[in-house]
Amino acid sequence: EIQQYISLDQLDKLAETSYPLCMRVLHKALRKNHHLTHGGRVQYCLFLKGMGLSLSDTITFWKDEFTKIMDDTAFKEHKYTIRFIFGQEGSRRDYQPYTCLRILESTIGPRDYHGCPFKRMLHDILEDELTDCGFNALERSAIMKLSKDGQYSAACNKYYEIKHDCFDDNLFKHPNIYFNESMKHRTS
Ligand code: SF4
Repeated sequence: EIQQYISLDQLDKLAETSYPLCMRVLHKALRKNHHLTHGGRVQYCLFLKGMGLSLSDTITFWKDEFTKIMDDTAFKEHKYTIRFIFGQEGSRRDYQPYTCLRILESTIGPRDYHGCPFKRMLHDILEDELTDCGFNALERSAIMKLSKDGQYSAACNKYYEIKHDCFDDNLFKHPNIYFNESMKHRTS
């Protein structure tokens, strides 16, 4: 399979068009706060790795944001985490991007943006996110209903269908599969 080269200046656009909501939320929070808690860093960093972003681009991406609120020395620790995730430090394991199942099981605190938004977000906040995506009332309520019923992957599938203006019978089990499907859809 040919992996498409993705450059850093495409990420803002891709977050709108091709990220599942869990990753869009993390990307947006990182751009806004120039920070994510540990769980968010790992979840998003692994997703970027799964997208095929190189280690050096990934470091540049996080450094540009984090060094808006901390100095280079403080960033060093985060750089280590990124290199670790890419299998370049410590046990040098090739960590795989999290599956939806893994993300759904995340422990979430009040300052966290990771996890699956369809499961963890307060209903009002989820609805605001969907409004921010440009979804109309009917579209929002279809997703909200699935989310309230505990049908998180169906809610994610509905989100995909609205974003891509199509019908799709995938029940997404992996954020990178969502992303790859979207890229295929948009280039076909
Ligand atoms: Fe992300 Fe999976 Fe939740 Fe979709 S179902 S938002 S891909 S964790």
